[in-house]
Amino acid sequence: MAQEVTVLDKVFVPYITRAEISSRISEMAARINEDYAGKNPLFIAILNGSFIFAADLFREVTIDAAITFVKLASYKGTTSTGNVVTAIGMEERLTDRHVVIVEDIIDTGKTLSAFIPEIESQKPASINIATFLSKPSALKYDVKAAYTAFEIENKFVLGYGLDYDGHGRNLPELYILK
Ligand code: 5GP
Ligand code: MG
Repeated sequence: MAQEVTVLDKVFVPYITRAEISSRISEMAARINEDYAGKNPLFIAILNGSFIFAADLFREVTIDAAITFVKLASYKGTTSTGNVVTAIGMEERLTDRHVVIVEDIIDTGKTLSAFIPEIESQKPASINIATFLSKPSALKYDVKAAYTAFEIENKFVLGYGLDYDGHGRNLPELYILK
C-alpha cells in the first residue's frame, strides 16, 4: 500500500490505485474500440495534465487512430464571455474527423467549454470527451464527457499526470489532499 506523500506545504493520501486505474482505462479503451471502429478517430490530448492518461489509454486503442497534443493558453479577451482559449500546436485539419478530446480532469468545465467551440468551428464529424477524472459537484459549465474513468469528490488530487504547482505528476497512482 502506498504511503502518504508531502508536496510543498500539503499532505496527500493514496486515493485510487494503479490497478484500479489500469482496469478502468482498459474498459474505456474497449468501449472506444467498439464505438470508433472504422472511423479513424483523432485523439486530441490536452497538455500537460493528460499526458500519462493519454499514453495509457492510446496504447490500448487497437483500432486505426491518430493522436495529437495541444496546450491551451487562456487570456482575458474582449469577447462577451471575457475568456479566450488558444490551442498551441493544433495543426491537424479537423473537418470531417471524429475527434476525441483527452483531458485529465473536468473540474468546473471552464477549460473545455472554451476549447470545444474552437474545435466545432472546424466542422468535425463528431466530438466526444474522454476524461480521466471528473468532479460532478464542481461542474459549472455545460460540459459532458462520453467517457469518464472516475467521478471523484470535490477535493484536490495529485499524481498520474496531475500536478501541484509543478510537482507530483510522476506519482504512479492518484493521491488526494489529506
Ligand atoms: P476546469 O477548467 O474544468 O475547471 O479545470 C480543469 C483543469 O484544472 C484541469 O485540466 C487541471 O489542470 C486543473 N485541476 C482541476 N482540478 C484539479 C485537481 O484536483 N488536481 C489537479 N492537480 N489539477 C486540477
Ligand atoms: Mg489540464
